[in-house]
Amino acid sequence: MCDGNAVGGQQTLASQGIVHGGGKYALDGRDSPLSRALADMPGRWRACLRGDGEIDLRGVQVLSQRVTVYGPDGTRDELDEVVVDVPALVRRLAEPVADRLLPWSVPADSITRTAAGVERVECGEYAIRADTYVFAAGIGNESLASRAGFDVSMRRRPLRQLVVRLPRPVALFAHCTSDNAGDGPLMTVTSHGNALYVGGGVAEDDAGPDEHIRVVRGLLARYFPALDLDGATFVDVSAVRAEPGVVSPDADIREARDPFVTRRGNCFLCWPIKMSLAPRLGDLVLAQWGSREPLAPGWTGHPGTRPAFGRPPYATPPC
Ligand SMILES: Cc1cc2nc3c(=O)[nH]c(=O)nc-3n(C[C@H](O)[C@H](O)[C@H](O)COP(=O)(O)OP(=O)(O)OC[C@H]3O[C@@H](n4cnc5c(N)ncnc54)[C@H](O)[C@@H]3O)c2cc1C
Repeated sequence: MCDGNAVGGQQTLASQGIVHGGGKYALDGRDSPLSRALADMPGRWRACLRGDGEIDLRGVQVLSQRVTVYGPDGTRDELDEVVVDVPALVRRLAEPVADRLLPWSVPADSITRTAAGVERVECGEYAIRADTYVFAAGIGNESLASRAGFDVSMRRRPLRQLVVRLPRPVALFAHCTSDNAGDGPLMTVTSHGNALYVGGGVAEDDAGPDEHIRVVRGLLARYFPALDLDGATFVDVSAVRAEPGVVSPDADIREARDPFVTRRGNCFLCWPIKMSLAPRLGDLVLAQWGSREPLAPGWTGHPGTRPAFGRPPYATPPC
């Protein structure tokens, strides 16, 4: 497995760690293809977190078992969403393959293709020859896919998240809605120790950093009047969501019925669309892979290697 950055990905570590159950995408009471796709996800993740699922995620901390929906008029509702500690999740997933993680970015031009599909990929000092290749490189899929022969476009949807560092820890897991619930949450807040991590609709506006901070400050004061922002510091964080652009460049993501998986020759191209949908992405890949077992590895990896892990934007800066 090759990953050009420290392990944890780009979007994954930037995410808010919410395993959505679809309610966030049906706040106006109308369900959507995406909300239906997400409906089973909290249950599947909880089974894994208990050690009863297809992947053992015991030891990954659950930050919250619920996300509260705060309405504009003071109403409150609870959504069945699990919030996980993403850095711990990444470490847990990396553990079983730690000595086979190559910390290299695969340049698109290192892919050699024949009529039958990809023949090999050069990765640093290695040439990887595999029976099947899986491209799940987020934003990096764009160039890899084209070189591997896929005719699939990618779209980028930028977000401007905000980290609000407070003098003391808080526990707030919330979607704050406006009068027009069909637009999705105006603001989504998760808590990570002393930091609030703020996204949602407010992160989609292209206001400058100062204006963004002013708006988020105002929303926090409006929805959580008891929250003490004295001594808080605010840090703007840019992130980009990478998604298949197959429907149309500006199609509503709520129209997505599933994570995106397509196969060409001996290659898969994948975008989960949501971290929550990773189990479903696995189902779709395995269904197309067929009943073949992976080949016995011809490479022993680097026993004892400890991968370098990335840090989420809300991590306390190193001293
Ligand atoms: C701010 C933000 C908040 C979000 N919050 C949530 C949430 O709360 N819940 C939810 O379900 N979803 C959320 N999402 C969406 C979710 O994070 C993504 O759908 C998911 O993490 C994508 O995972 P990925 O592995 O496809 O991509 P990434 O996490 O981006 O990983 C791709 C990896 O591929 C590597 N790579 C790229 N190019 C190459 C190359 N050429 N060679 C080798 N490696 C390469 C990168 O280094 C990276 O590690 C959020 C997204 C953002 C941006």
